[in-house]
Amino acid sequence: FSSVELTKEAFKRIDQTDSKVGAFLALNEAEAIKQAEAADARGYQDSNVLNGIPLGIKDNIITDGLTTTAASRMLEDFVPIYDATVVSKLKEAGAVNVGKLNMDEFAMGGTTETSYFKETKNPWDLNKVPGGSSGGSAAAVASGQILASLGTDTGGSIRQPAAFNGIVGMKPTYGRVSRYGLIAFASSLDQIGPFTRTVTDNALMLEAISGHDKRDSTSAKLEVPQFSANLTGQIAGMKVALPKEYFQAGVSQEIQTAVRKAAQQFEEMGAIVEEVNLPTLSYGIPAYYIIASSEASSNLQRFDGIRYGYRAEGVNSLDELYIRTRSEGFGMEVKRRIMLGTFSLSSGFYDAYFKKASQVRTLIKRDFERIFNDYDFILGPTTTTTAYNLGTKVEDPIQMYVSDLLTVTINLAGVPAITVPGGFSSEGLPIGIQLIGNYFEEAKLYQAAFAFE
Ligand code: GLN
Repeated sequence: FSSVELTKEAFKRIDQTDSKVGAFLALNEAEAIKQAEAADARGYQDSNVLNGIPLGIKDNIITDGLTTTAASRMLEDFVPIYDATVVSKLKEAGAVNVGKLNMDEFAMGGTTETSYFKETKNPWDLNKVPGGSSGGSAAAVASGQILASLGTDTGGSIRQPAAFNGIVGMKPTYGRVSRYGLIAFASSLDQIGPFTRTVTDNALMLEAISGHDKRDSTSAKLEVPQFSANLTGQIAGMKVALPKEYFQAGVSQEIQTAVRKAAQQFEEMGAIVEEVNLPTLSYGIPAYYIIASSEASSNLQRFDGIRYGYRAEGVNSLDELYIRTRSEGFGMEVKRRIMLGTFSLSSGFYDAYFKKASQVRTLIKRDFERIFNDYDFILGPTTTTTAYNLGTKVEDPIQMYVSDLLTVTINLAGVPAITVPGGFSSEGLPIGIQLIGNYFEEAKLYQAAFAFE
């Protein structure tokens, strides 16, 4: 069948299901059909492996001519005039952009409930959260609306929603994918990555978006391996580290059992699984929330009501313009982060908070480096629980923050990690298994994840 047929099917499916799931913030129908027609005319080649494939993009990644809000009132009417590098790369690979996906405001949150615009629901159970912050990206793929999507992961926002939705999500090594055109949350932690239903699709997506970009000074000058070429299922002899700290009271029994089962499966495939210590795990949450909020408070200074975005009406002074624009344009969670971050960076508190958190970050990094001297990858859970009811955590930020225990240290270290489906809870909700790799060893993660899936 043709890309036009496939793309029309995607819009039909969205039409049938999105009033319930609520994944999309903007649809790109007319343009998408044109892209599909061009794909059909071009035909599939080795250079455009995603030719004609309908996919979606998280709404903090800017798209030329298509509203990009980061799910904030601040950017309600923002129409970018250029594409993010990942968006250009997807176009080069022949993909069709179906539309923009819901998320937590400025990617701050873990349920997609901090979106200014709408609630997204978990397609496995519409009373449950889809996870976040890339909840729309995960729900759209899991509900069969589109074949793949892009999300962003600052402290777990690809891996946690992928786990809650029973799909595959990859957070690449920091620097693997250009951040040019990503509305920044915490620049030293943010990475863009793919959501798909299968490991092979995920590898193809990452191949398409990776690579050095002169517009992002932190993007790595490294060749992009063909991640999809290595998928043989052969993992005999690989050494797998299983940190003891993952089996603690904070992680649900069912998830612990699923990880033990996964370890056994890896052993049966010929891998060598050994228990290790990861003592810095418990420092991840405090270090992450200080660093991420500090960087956010700095990045979000640009939303001042002057250059672009929301502007308060009827003000009498410049100070009033700033205050009212930011009070009205930002939601509660964003304000909380700005206050926490500004405090951590202020003179008098800098040494005790931001500097201390940066030192802890170095210890976390060393902990991973020590393990990767001896092991090919780390095996563990992605989340502490499965998807929970909508409305249960959004009013309780601390509860929300501690649930990021298993994802944030990976961003602080900058290493890659993938989540793959690893069974279901007794309630019938998906459980995610997380594989964490050494710097720029995504190929190994795909190899192991492929063997496991
Ligand atoms: N839940 C985390 C937070 O709220 C992670 C967010 C993300 O990765 N964008 O900061």
